[in-house]
Amino acid sequence: MARIYNFSAGPAVLPEEVLKEAAAEMLDYKGTGMSVMEMSHRSKAFEGIIQDAEKDLRELLNIPDNYKVLFLQGGASQQFAMIPMNLMKNKVADYIVTGQWAKKAFQEAKKYGDAKAIASSEDKTFSYIPDCSDLEIRENADYVYICENNTIYGTKFKTLPNTKGKTLVADLSSCILSEPVDVTKYGLIFAGVQKNIGPAGVVIAIIREDLITEDTLPGTPTMLQYKIHADNDSLYNTPPAYGIYICGKVFKHLLNLGGLEKMKEINERKAAILYDFLDSSEMFKGTVIKEDRSLMNVPFVTGNDELDAKFVKEAKAAGFENLKGHRSVGGMRASIYNAMPMEGVEKLVDFMKNFEAENK
Ligand SMILES: *Cc1c(COP(=O)(O)O)cnc(C)c1O
Repeated sequence: MARIYNFSAGPAVLPEEVLKEAAAEMLDYKGTGMSVMEMSHRSKAFEGIIQDAEKDLRELLNIPDNYKVLFLQGGASQQFAMIPMNLMKNKVADYIVTGQWAKKAFQEAKKYGDAKAIASSEDKTFSYIPDCSDLEIRENADYVYICENNTIYGTKFKTLPNTKGKTLVADLSSCILSEPVDVTKYGLIFAGVQKNIGPAGVVIAIIREDLITEDTLPGTPTMLQYKIHADNDSLYNTPPAYGIYICGKVFKHLLNLGGLEKMKEINERKAAILYDFLDSSEMFKGTVIKEDRSLMNVPFVTGNDELDAKFVKEAKAAGFENLKGHRSVGGMRASIYNAMPMEGVEKLVDFMKNFEAENK
Protein backbone atom coordinates (compact mmCIF):
# COMPACT_ATOMS: atom_id res chain seq x y z
CA MET A 1 0.00 0.00 0.00
CA ALA A 2 1.33 3.43 -0.94
CA ARG A 3 -0.21 6.71 0.21
CA ILE A 4 0.63 9.74 -1.92
CA TYR A 5 0.86 13.34 -0.74
CA ASN A 6 -2.57 14.72 -1.56
CA PHE A 7 -2.59 18.51 -2.01
CA SER A 8 -6.24 18.61 -3.10
CA ALA A 9 -8.31 21.67 -2.15
CA GLY A 10 -11.20 19.39 -1.26
CA PRO A 11 -12.25 16.72 -0.60
CA ALA A 12 -8.86 16.63 0.98
CA VAL A 13 -6.34 14.65 2.97
CA LEU A 14 -7.51 13.18 6.30
CA PRO A 15 -5.33 12.11 9.23
CA GLU A 16 -4.01 8.59 8.63
CA GLU A 17 -4.68 7.64 12.28
CA VAL A 18 -8.35 8.50 11.84
CA LEU A 19 -8.65 6.45 8.66
CA LYS A 20 -6.97 3.49 10.37
CA GLU A 21 -9.30 3.69 13.36
CA ALA A 22 -12.33 3.88 11.08
CA ALA A 23 -11.03 0.87 9.15
CA ALA A 24 -10.61 -1.12 12.36
CA GLU A 25 -14.19 -0.29 13.40
CA MET A 26 -15.70 -0.82 9.96
CA LEU A 27 -17.37 -4.19 10.55
CA ASP A 28 -18.05 -3.92 14.26
CA TYR A 29 -18.33 -0.54 15.92
CA LYS A 30 -17.52 -1.04 19.61
CA GLY A 31 -19.25 -4.36 20.02
CA THR A 32 -22.49 -3.36 18.27
CA GLY A 33 -21.78 -5.97 15.58
CA MET A 34 -22.37 -3.45 12.83
CA SER A 35 -20.77 -0.56 11.01
CA VAL A 36 -21.74 3.02 11.86
CA MET A 37 -23.06 3.13 8.29
CA GLU A 38 -25.65 0.47 9.12
CA MET A 39 -26.83 1.90 12.40
CA SER A 40 -30.04 3.72 13.30
CA HIS A 41 -29.44 7.41 13.87
CA ARG A 42 -31.78 7.02 16.88
CA SER A 43 -29.62 4.28 18.45
CA LYS A 44 -27.72 4.70 21.73
CA ALA A 45 -24.45 4.13 19.89
CA PHE A 46 -25.06 6.92 17.39
CA GLU A 47 -26.40 9.25 20.06
CA GLY A 48 -23.04 8.82 21.77
CA ILE A 49 -21.20 9.57 18.52
CA ILE A 50 -23.02 12.82 17.71
CA GLN A 51 -23.03 14.07 21.29
CA ASP A 52 -19.29 13.41 21.67
CA ALA A 53 -18.63 15.11 18.33
CA GLU A 54 -20.47 18.23 19.45
CA LYS A 55 -18.79 18.24 22.87
CA ASP A 56 -15.31 17.93 21.35
CA LEU A 57 -15.97 20.62 18.74
CA ARG A 58 -17.22 22.95 21.49
CA GLU A 59 -14.02 22.30 23.42
CA LEU A 60 -11.77 22.85 20.39
CA LEU A 61 -13.38 26.13 19.37
CA ASN A 62 -14.35 27.23 22.86
CA ILE A 63 -17.94 27.72 21.69
CA PRO A 64 -20.06 29.67 24.20
CA ASP A 65 -23.30 28.15 25.55
CA ASN A 66 -25.47 30.66 23.68
CA TYR A 67 -24.40 29.19 20.34
CA LYS A 68 -25.91 26.06 18.79
CA VAL A 69 -23.80 23.58 16.85
CA LEU A 70 -25.68 22.06 13.91
CA PHE A 71 -24.64 19.19 11.65
CA LEU A 72 -26.36 19.84 8.32
CA GLN A 73 -26.25 18.66 4.70
CA GLY A 74 -26.33 20.26 1.27
CA GLY A 75 -22.72 21.38 1.22
CA ALA A 76 -21.45 24.84 2.03
CA SER A 77 -23.30 26.00 -1.10
CA GLN A 78 -26.70 25.29 0.44
CA GLN A 79 -25.84 27.75 3.20
CA PHE A 80 -25.62 30.46 0.52
CA ALA A 81 -29.46 30.23 0.35
CA MET A 82 -30.21 29.11 3.90
CA ILE A 83 -28.51 32.18 5.35
CA PRO A 84 -30.66 34.80 3.60
CA MET A 85 -33.79 32.68 4.03
CA ASN A 86 -33.28 32.63 7.79
CA LEU A 87 -31.47 35.88 8.57
CA MET A 88 -32.83 38.46 6.12
CA LYS A 89 -35.47 39.98 8.36
CA ASN A 90 -35.16 43.40 6.65
CA LYS A 91 -34.21 41.74 3.37
CA VAL A 92 -30.96 43.70 3.37
CA ALA A 93 -27.47 42.19 3.54
CA ASP A 94 -23.96 43.45 2.80
CA TYR A 95 -21.40 41.14 1.17
CA ILE A 96 -17.62 41.38 0.96
CA VAL A 97 -16.63 39.66 -2.25
CA THR A 98 -13.14 38.16 -2.02
CA GLY A 99 -13.44 35.19 -4.35
CA GLN A 100 -15.70 32.78 -6.22
CA TRP A 101 -17.31 31.36 -3.10
CA ALA A 102 -18.18 34.77 -1.68
CA LYS A 103 -19.46 35.79 -5.08
CA LYS A 104 -21.70 32.75 -5.33
CA ALA A 105 -23.08 33.44 -1.86
CA PHE A 106 -23.68 37.07 -2.85
CA GLN A 107 -25.47 36.11 -6.07
CA GLU A 108 -27.64 33.61 -4.24
CA ALA A 109 -28.62 36.18 -1.61
CA LYS A 110 -29.78 38.54 -4.37
CA LYS A 111 -32.59 36.08 -5.08
CA TYR A 112 -34.04 36.73 -1.64
CA GLY A 113 -33.50 40.40 -0.98
CA ASP A 114 -31.36 43.47 -1.38
CA ALA A 115 -27.85 42.07 -1.22
CA LYS A 116 -25.05 44.52 -1.94
CA ALA A 117 -21.33 44.01 -2.52
CA ILE A 118 -19.79 46.64 -0.23
CA ALA A 119 -16.19 45.65 -1.01
CA SER A 120 -14.47 43.44 -3.55
CA SER A 121 -11.00 42.38 -4.65
CA GLU A 122 -12.10 41.18 -8.08
CA ASP A 123 -10.13 44.01 -9.77
CA LYS A 124 -6.90 42.08 -9.10
CA THR A 125 -8.13 38.49 -9.51
CA PHE A 126 -8.96 38.30 -5.79
CA SER A 127 -5.26 38.33 -4.89
CA TYR A 128 -5.76 40.46 -1.77
CA ILE A 129 -8.24 41.24 1.01
CA PRO A 130 -9.76 44.71 0.76
CA ASP A 131 -9.48 47.18 3.64
CA CYS A 132 -12.57 46.50 5.73
CA SER A 133 -11.92 48.87 8.61
CA ASP A 134 -14.48 51.50 7.59
CA LEU A 135 -16.98 50.14 5.11
CA GLU A 136 -20.30 51.68 4.20
CA ILE A 137 -22.45 49.18 5.97
CA ARG A 138 -26.11 49.92 5.61
CA GLU A 139 -28.03 50.96 8.68
CA ASN A 140 -30.68 48.27 8.18
CA ALA A 141 -28.35 45.46 7.03
CA ASP A 142 -29.36 42.15 8.58
CA TYR A 143 -25.78 40.91 8.42
CA VAL A 144 -22.35 41.36 6.87
CA TYR A 145 -21.01 38.35 4.99
CA ILE A 146 -17.44 37.19 4.43
CA CYS A 147 -15.62 34.14 3.14
CA GLU A 148 -12.79 34.10 5.65
CA ASN A 149 -10.32 31.92 3.76
CA ASN A 150 -10.52 32.00 -0.02
CA THR A 151 -9.77 28.45 -1.07
CA ILE A 152 -9.26 29.19 -4.76
CA TYR A 153 -7.16 32.36 -4.44
CA GLY A 154 -5.24 31.62 -1.25
CA THR A 155 -6.15 34.75 0.70
CA LYS A 156 -7.30 34.98 4.31
CA PHE A 157 -8.81 37.73 6.45
CA LYS A 158 -6.15 38.33 9.15
CA THR A 159 -8.44 40.79 10.90
CA LEU A 160 -12.20 40.58 10.73
CA PRO A 161 -14.09 43.45 9.09
CA ASN A 162 -15.45 46.22 11.25
CA THR A 163 -19.15 45.38 10.94
CA LYS A 164 -20.22 48.42 12.98
CA GLY A 165 -22.32 46.29 15.26
CA LYS A 166 -23.98 44.23 12.53
CA THR A 167 -24.05 40.45 12.69
CA LEU A 168 -21.05 38.82 11.03
CA VAL A 169 -21.73 35.70 8.95
CA ALA A 170 -18.65 33.80 7.81
CA ASP A 171 -17.81 30.89 5.55
CA LEU A 172 -14.89 29.09 7.23
CA SER A 173 -15.00 25.99 5.02
CA SER A 174 -11.30 25.99 4.22
CA CYS A 175 -9.81 27.32 7.47
CA ILE A 176 -11.99 26.00 10.28
CA LEU A 177 -9.91 24.29 13.01
CA SER A 178 -6.64 25.51 11.51
CA GLU A 179 -6.26 28.02 14.35
CA PRO A 180 -8.27 29.36 17.31
CA VAL A 181 -11.30 31.50 16.52
CA ASP A 182 -13.17 33.92 18.78
CA VAL A 183 -16.67 32.62 18.14
CA THR A 184 -18.26 35.55 19.98
CA LYS A 185 -17.27 37.85 17.10
CA TYR A 186 -19.64 36.02 14.75
CA GLY A 187 -23.37 35.51 14.53
CA LEU A 188 -22.97 32.50 12.29
CA ILE A 189 -19.98 30.42 11.23
CA PHE A 190 -20.44 27.65 8.72
CA ALA A 191 -18.12 25.18 7.04
CA GLY A 192 -18.39 22.31 4.61
CA VAL A 193 -16.26 19.69 6.33
CA GLN A 194 -14.57 18.23 3.26
CA LYS A 195 -11.70 20.73 3.31
CA ASN A 196 -10.24 20.58 6.78
CA ILE A 197 -12.32 18.14 8.83
CA GLY A 198 -13.93 15.09 7.27
CA PRO A 199 -15.73 13.47 4.34
CA ALA A 200 -18.00 15.48 2.04
CA GLY A 201 -21.67 15.51 3.01
CA VAL A 202 -21.58 17.29 6.36
CA VAL A 203 -21.82 21.04 6.90
CA ILE A 204 -21.26 22.46 10.36
CA ALA A 205 -23.11 25.61 11.40
CA ILE A 206 -22.32 27.41 14.64
CA ILE A 207 -25.08 29.92 15.21
CA ARG A 208 -25.92 32.36 17.99
CA GLU A 209 -29.26 31.46 19.57
CA ASP A 210 -30.96 34.81 19.06
CA LEU A 211 -30.56 34.35 15.28
CA ILE A 212 -32.50 31.09 15.35
CA THR A 213 -36.14 32.06 14.87
CA GLU A 214 -39.33 30.86 13.19
CA ASP A 215 -39.41 34.12 11.29
CA THR A 216 -37.92 32.88 8.00
CA LEU A 217 -38.73 34.14 4.50
CA PRO A 218 -42.12 32.90 3.23
CA GLY A 219 -41.82 29.52 1.56
CA THR A 220 -38.59 28.53 3.28
CA PRO A 221 -38.54 24.72 3.19
CA THR A 222 -38.69 22.95 6.55
CA MET A 223 -35.27 21.42 5.93
CA LEU A 224 -33.74 24.86 5.38
CA GLN A 225 -34.82 26.30 8.73
CA TYR A 226 -32.10 26.52 11.36
CA LYS A 227 -34.77 26.35 14.05
CA ILE A 228 -35.96 22.92 12.92
CA HIS A 229 -32.45 21.51 13.13
CA ALA A 230 -31.65 23.31 16.38
CA ASP A 231 -34.86 22.12 18.09
CA ASN A 232 -34.09 18.56 17.03
CA ASP A 233 -30.37 18.51 17.91
CA SER A 234 -29.50 17.92 14.23
CA LEU A 235 -31.70 14.79 14.21
CA TYR A 236 -34.84 16.15 12.56
CA ASN A 237 -34.28 13.65 9.77
CA THR A 238 -31.50 11.15 9.06
CA PRO A 239 -28.23 13.05 9.37
CA PRO A 240 -25.07 12.20 7.39
CA ALA A 241 -24.25 9.75 10.17
CA TYR A 242 -21.02 8.20 8.93
CA GLY A 243 -19.60 11.62 8.03
CA ILE A 244 -20.39 12.95 11.50
CA TYR A 245 -18.65 9.90 13.00
CA ILE A 246 -15.46 10.67 11.04
CA CYS A 247 -15.65 14.36 11.98
CA GLY A 248 -15.89 13.29 15.61
CA LYS A 249 -12.72 11.24 15.25
CA VAL A 250 -10.92 14.20 13.71
CA PHE A 251 -12.01 16.44 16.62
CA LYS A 252 -10.58 13.92 19.12
CA HIS A 253 -7.41 13.67 17.04
CA LEU A 254 -6.95 17.48 17.15
CA LEU A 255 -7.60 17.58 20.90
CA ASN A 256 -4.97 14.86 21.36
CA LEU A 257 -2.49 16.87 19.30
CA GLY A 258 -2.97 19.79 21.70
CA GLY A 259 -5.91 21.77 20.30
CA LEU A 260 -6.06 24.76 18.00
CA GLU A 261 -3.24 26.85 19.51
CA LYS A 262 -0.99 23.93 18.68
CA MET A 263 -2.50 23.52 15.20
CA LYS A 264 -1.89 27.19 14.48
CA GLU A 265 1.76 26.83 15.48
CA ILE A 266 2.16 23.73 13.29
CA ASN A 267 0.30 25.31 10.36
CA GLU A 268 2.41 28.47 10.53
CA ARG A 269 5.63 26.46 10.47
CA LYS A 270 4.33 24.27 7.67
CA ALA A 271 3.17 27.16 5.47
CA ALA A 272 6.42 29.06 6.09
CA ILE A 273 8.42 26.22 4.52
CA LEU A 274 6.56 26.74 1.25
CA TYR A 275 6.23 30.55 1.36
CA ASP A 276 9.90 31.04 2.26
CA PHE A 277 10.86 28.94 -0.73
CA LEU A 278 8.46 30.84 -3.03
CA ASP A 279 9.99 34.14 -1.86
CA SER A 280 13.52 32.94 -2.62
CA SER A 281 12.82 31.08 -5.88
CA GLU A 282 13.66 32.57 -9.27
CA MET A 283 11.15 30.31 -10.99
CA PHE A 284 8.13 29.94 -8.69
CA LYS A 285 6.14 32.91 -7.40
CA GLY A 286 3.22 33.15 -4.99
CA THR A 287 0.16 34.93 -6.46
CA VAL A 288 -1.12 36.63 -3.29
CA ILE A 289 0.12 39.75 -1.51
CA LYS A 290 2.14 38.69 1.53
CA GLU A 291 -0.04 40.18 4.29
CA ASP A 292 -3.10 38.26 3.13
CA ARG A 293 -1.60 34.83 2.56
CA SER A 294 -3.62 31.80 3.60
CA LEU A 295 -2.07 29.14 5.82
CA MET A 296 -4.17 26.50 4.05
CA ASN A 297 -4.19 27.15 0.29
CA VAL A 298 -1.02 28.26 -1.48
CA PRO A 299 -1.34 29.18 -5.17
CA PHE A 300 1.85 29.74 -7.19
CA VAL A 301 2.95 30.07 -10.79
CA THR A 302 6.09 29.96 -12.89
CA GLY A 303 4.73 32.55 -15.31
CA ASN A 304 4.95 30.04 -18.16
CA ASP A 305 1.93 27.82 -18.82
CA GLU A 306 3.97 25.05 -20.43
CA LEU A 307 6.38 24.95 -17.52
CA ASP A 308 3.44 24.88 -15.08
CA ALA A 309 1.96 21.90 -16.91
CA LYS A 310 5.33 20.11 -16.93
CA PHE A 311 5.70 20.73 -13.21
CA VAL A 312 2.23 19.37 -12.38
CA LYS A 313 2.86 16.28 -14.50
CA GLU A 314 6.28 15.51 -13.04
CA ALA A 315 5.09 16.23 -9.50
CA LYS A 316 2.25 13.77 -9.95
CA ALA A 317 4.65 11.10 -11.16
CA ALA A 318 6.73 11.72 -8.03
CA GLY A 319 3.73 11.21 -5.69
CA PHE A 320 2.53 14.81 -5.20
CA GLU A 321 -1.11 14.78 -6.29
CA ASN A 322 -3.65 17.48 -7.12
CA LEU A 323 -1.26 20.41 -7.50
CA LYS A 324 -2.93 21.87 -10.58
CA GLY A 325 -4.27 25.34 -9.83
CA HIS A 326 -7.89 26.39 -10.18
CA ARG A 327 -8.72 27.31 -13.79
CA SER A 328 -9.40 30.94 -12.81
CA VAL A 329 -5.85 31.45 -11.44
CA GLY A 330 -3.89 28.91 -13.48
CA GLY A 331 -0.54 27.56 -12.36
CA MET A 332 -0.43 25.47 -9.21
CA ARG A 333 -2.08 25.35 -5.82
CA ALA A 334 -0.90 23.36 -2.83
CA SER A 335 -3.60 22.92 -0.20
CA ILE A 336 -1.84 22.15 3.05
CA TYR A 337 -4.67 21.51 5.49
CA ASN A 338 -4.25 20.25 9.07
CA ALA A 339 -3.82 16.66 7.93
CA MET A 340 -1.00 17.35 5.44
CA PRO A 341 2.13 16.19 7.25
CA MET A 342 5.06 18.60 7.63
CA GLU A 343 7.13 16.05 5.72
CA GLY A 344 4.77 16.36 2.72
CA VAL A 345 5.55 20.08 2.40
CA GLU A 346 9.28 19.57 3.00
CA LYS A 347 9.41 16.96 0.26
CA LEU A 348 7.36 19.14 -2.10
CA VAL A 349 9.81 22.00 -1.62
CA ASP A 350 12.76 19.66 -2.27
CA PHE A 351 11.03 18.54 -5.44
CA MET A 352 10.45 22.18 -6.49
CA LYS A 353 14.12 23.03 -5.88
CA ASN A 354 15.23 20.15 -8.07
CA PHE A 355 12.72 21.06 -10.75
CA GLU A 356 13.97 24.63 -10.76
CA ALA A 357 17.60 23.52 -11.06
CA GLU A 358 16.79 21.14 -13.92
CA ASN A 359 14.63 23.59 -15.87
CA LYS A 360 16.66 26.81 -15.62
C1 LIG B 1 -15.41 24.31 -1.20
C2 LIG B 1 -15.98 25.55 -0.68
C3 LIG B 1 -17.35 25.84 -0.78
C4 LIG B 1 -18.32 24.92 -1.49
O1 LIG B 1 -18.52 23.77 -0.75
P1 LIG B 1 -19.62 22.68 -1.20
O2 LIG B 1 -19.70 21.83 0.04
O3 LIG B 1 -19.08 21.98 -2.38
O4 LIG B 1 -20.87 23.39 -1.49
C5 LIG B 1 -17.80 27.01 -0.23
N1 LIG B 1 -16.98 27.86 0.38
C6 LIG B 1 -15.66 27.62 0.50
C7 LIG B 1 -14.78 28.61 1.20
C8 LIG B 1 -15.12 26.47 -0.03
O5 LIG B 1 -13.80 26.24 0.08
